[in-house]
Amino acid sequence: MEQKIVNNIIKKVMEQMASSTPETKTVESSGEEAIPVELSGRHVHLCEEDIKELYGAPLTFVKELSQPGQYLCKERVRLIGPSGVIDNVAVLGPARPKSQVEVSLTDARILGMKAPVRQSGDVSGTPGLVLASSTGLVGLKEGVMVAARHIHMSPEDGARFGVSDNQRVAVHLDGDRPAVLKDVIVRIHKDFKLAMHIDFDEANGCGLGKNAKGRIVAVTEEA
Ligand SMILES: [Zn+2]
Repeated sequence: MEQKIVNNIIKKVMEQMASSTPETKTVESSGEEAIPVELSGRHVHLCEEDIKELYGAPLTFVKELSQPGQYLCKERVRLIGPSGVIDNVAVLGPARPKSQVEVSLTDARILGMKAPVRQSGDVSGTPGLVLASSTGLVGLKEGVMVAARHIHMSPEDGARFGVSDNQRVAVHLDGDRPAVLKDVIVRIHKDFKLAMHIDFDEANGCGLGKNAKGRIVAVTEEA
């Protein structure tokens, strides 16, 4: 009798596993080219005016970042929110037309504010905070956001993947906690190098480490 119950359970589990296999298989053997996944830590982009106010001099180049023309600066900034402070935040160059603060949802909670998920540059209607250096203060009226997950690619990459600028895709990530991230925005520009950018909340959620890779598994309609 007990043996019969055990056999039935085994049979059920085997059936479930068999029925769930095709989906997993499609994802893992999609044959799509692997996309390097890079983790973006919290950082700010500053306009010329705010750079002058905070540092009194142009930004100091330290090293190139993966996307051509973008670089890490020696300068650091303190983020002061309604109920919390985050120190030693990276400043990226070159200067932008508008200052922008990119944080994770966890950071936003530490600062005591609600930051919307936005595409870089889309600051209208986002909350502000206070930026501080050792010699200056800037009160930002807006610019705090959680960067939307995105993939940088060249027009050639876009053609190869069959996607266009601003299209949204789903990406399977092979981490310790494998996951499919949806609503990943494709950004195409001739100067872009193929890389997917997600923040540390997302990366930790998927158990991703260094040299992580993602694969596009679904493409949605034009945004
Ligand atoms: Zn990016």
